[in-house]
Amino acid sequence: MTSASLENRATALNSQLEKLDLSGRLALIASLDGKSVFTTSLGIEDQVITAAIGTGKHGIEVSTLETGRLFNETVALIDKTEETYGILIRRFYPEQDDIDAYAAKYGANGFYDSVEARHACCGARKLKPLARALEGASFWITGLRRGQSGNRAETPFAEADSERGLIKINVLADWDIETIRAHVAAEAIPVNPLHTRGYPSIGCEPCTRAIKPGEPERAGRWWWENDEKRECGLHVADAASAIPQASSISNSPVSSSIAR
Ligand code: SF4
Repeated sequence: MTSASLENRATALNSQLEKLDLSGRLALIASLDGKSVFTTSLGIEDQVITAAIGTGKHGIEVSTLETGRLFNETVALIDKTEETYGILIRRFYPEQDDIDAYAAKYGANGFYDSVEARHACCGARKLKPLARALEGASFWITGLRRGQSGNRAETPFAEADSERGLIKINVLADWDIETIRAHVAAEAIPVNPLHTRGYPSIGCEPCTRAIKPGEPERAGRWWWENDEKRECGLHVADAASAIPQASSISNSPVSSSIAR
């Protein structure tokens, strides 16, 4: 599909999705011609989506990026969620060659030392596995919400991802955190116990801290970086083309175009 046709398709889908509830949105996506993949981080909003896919039997593939640096609580929640909803959550792991090359160049925890080193780690542990998770997909479902950060305030329901040649669908774009929490309580959806310990947004263990009262939801992610727009690159349009290879990690600086 060309970029223009992707844009047109996304615009039309955006209008359709806006009028539907979560179940209706997922049913619409499942009815589309093309493979749909939901990538979950096991965060509270992603648990809402996984529960809806599982109970609605929508037949949408559910995948997660098992970076090797997740909290134990997050890893345990993958198993618990599979058991609760009788679904398979496909795990995508980083390649050992990339991990070894990263450690040789930056050190195992080199991501604290520079933005470049952090992008390289996210590239090896998240972006490359994500590319495998989305192979053959026409639609990528995410749990992005407008209320998560200022950087996500304009999140649409559907948007063209020309780099990856697919349409990204943010089925909870208009849900606020209070609605999410109420839904989780009403439906008894299993969530990460870290949420009640000050972690509204949970990523890899070494890169996530609890937030203080009044801080934005994502303030605990890569907290040592002084940039309000920091992201891991998963949801940045030009990130897919900047995925570093094991050889480039060990031999040259990682492209600074992986925006955060
Ligand atoms: S969040 Fe941290 S540990 Fe996880 S992939 Fe990114 S830099 Fe590496």
